[in-house]
Amino acid sequence: MGILAMGIMVIWGLGILFALGSQILLAFAVYFDAKSKNNSDPVMWALLTGFLGWIPAIIYLCLRGKESDRLIYCPQCGIAHRVSMPNCPQCGIMNPYAAPFVGPQVDVWKKRAKLCLIWAIVLFVLIFVLIFIFILAMVLIASSNPYIYY
Ligand SMILES: [Zn+2]
Repeated sequence: MGILAMGIMVIWGLGILFALGSQILLAFAVYFDAKSKNNSDPVMWALLTGFLGWIPAIIYLCLRGKESDRLIYCPQCGIAHRVSMPNCPQCGIMNPYAAPFVGPQVDVWKKRAKLCLIWAIVLFVLIFVLIFIFILAMVLIASSNPYIYY
């Protein structure tokens, strides 16, 4: 029974660790994504996600394009296009307002956001694997000890 109790504790410990890790990684994913999108409050969104989890992350996801999808008018041909486009889609003139949305630093942030998100999802899936192992172990133990039911 000592080994069994230890096994259960290890599974629960790992579960809590994975849940915490998943949430922290998700917070970092939100932070780096917000940086890459030139969001004005990356730290606020990261903290909200870190403390409250997936719900603020989903709200963030709905709002994340707000800055970069803002429309501006081309000074040369007058067509409306997204502020994050480095060049006008019609006449090709350079758009100076796109500078915060492009460049090597933005690519680094995007990559980091992606990496953090992938690992957050991996850990999240692992929690379900643990729950499955836990249930399986309980079923096996119950079936090998029929007197548990009496
Ligand atoms: Zn133009």
